[in-house]
Amino acid sequence: MTEIIDGMTHEMVGSDSFEQFMNRPLPHNGQAYIQRDYKTGKDYICCPFCGKKNFPLTPGAHITGQKFKCKGSNCREIFEVNV
Ligand SMILES: [Zn+2]
Repeated sequence: MTEIIDGMTHEMVGSDSFEQFMNRPLPHNGQAYIQRDYKTGKDYICCPFCGKKNFPLTPGAHITGQKFKCKGSNCREIFEVNV
């Protein structure tokens, strides 16, 4: 029980330390994040605003500062990809 409360306390702390305790970092800056599809084992670029998988990431690919528009019909936000 103490551990659960301890974990909640961490979530209250600023976002920097918060992300260290999460598998999926919560984006605050319009940067896309990568999420692995556990079925296919592929990495996907995900929209930081709605979390939609936008496209699979080619292994070994490097993308810097590329802007993409989210494919989510309710989202359509522009996000930046750096991988
Ligand atoms: Zn989106």
